[in-house]
Amino acid sequence: MHELSIAQNIIEIVQDHLPEDQKYSVKTVRVKIGKLTNILPDSLVFSFDALTRETNLNGASLEIEHLPLTIECGDCGLQSSGNEFIFACPECGSTSIKIVSGNELMVTEIELND
Ligand SMILES: [Zn+2]
Repeated sequence: MHELSIAQNIIEIVQDHLPEDQKYSVKTVRVKIGKLTNILPDSLVFSFDALTRETNLNGASLEIEHLPLTIECGDCGLQSSGNEFIFACPECGSTSIKIVSGNELMVTEIELND
């Protein structure tokens, strides 16, 4: 259950980027989450809603975009994507695998109410 601390991080990032002007309120926060983070989207949204209730982000909705896992073979250079971690290259069988993406957790967009 690390979603609670992740939700807290997201809230802090958003608050750091909000304009000083208090008339703005946040409508939507969009995040991208890599497959390898093992974050449960439902728990993350639940945590986000619970933590924002008493803040200036109250009412904001959290939208999650999932990024697949992408690996690159260190021997033949083949890149492959999928939702499961691959331990060997599907092309040449090499286990020299480098993770290209899948560890991401980033706030990509903050949408404000007018
Ligand atoms: Zn390979």
